Amino acid sequence: MSRRKTGPRRRPPAPAPTVTAASPCPCGLDAAYGACCGRFHGGTDAAPTAELLMRSRYSAFVVGDAAYLLRTWAPGTRPDTLDLDPGMRWTGLEIGAATEGSAFHQRGTVTFRASYVHGGEPGSLHERSRFARHDGAWVYVDGDFLDD
Ligand SMILES: [Zn+2]
Repeated sequence: MSRRKTGPRRRPPAPAPTVTAASPCPCGLDAAYGACCGRFHGGTDAAPTAELLMRSRYSAFVVGDAAYLLRTWAPGTRPDTLDLDPGMRWTGLEIGAATEGSAFHQRGTVTFRASYVHGGEPGSLHERSRFARHDGAWVYVDGDFLDD
């Protein structure tokens, strides 16, 4: 998922939820964070499919792991720096259609809807993201916003 452009902040940022290794994984899979996206964030494993990379990037937004977001971004489209908006609280992820992106593919797309609350206002981001392999590992390339 890309950075979301936000307007001026008028309210103090909401406190980030504390996610521990034993917490339910923010990505929505029925697993603890430490056994799910946490192992990708920690660098002990690489996401084997584009969908799992997508989920782990969403979880990285939730836990504020900008370094993971940058290192799983294709070099050609990666921003130099990434400032996560502390006023953004991601509240849920739904994965829609996915194409290719398996252990046997070099590219893939994943359509998702990510829900959030920003400045007290709920919203959602509906995007089709493109993924590719870089040095064997899945990386995020770019995405198209979809109409609701
Ligand atoms: Zn997860």
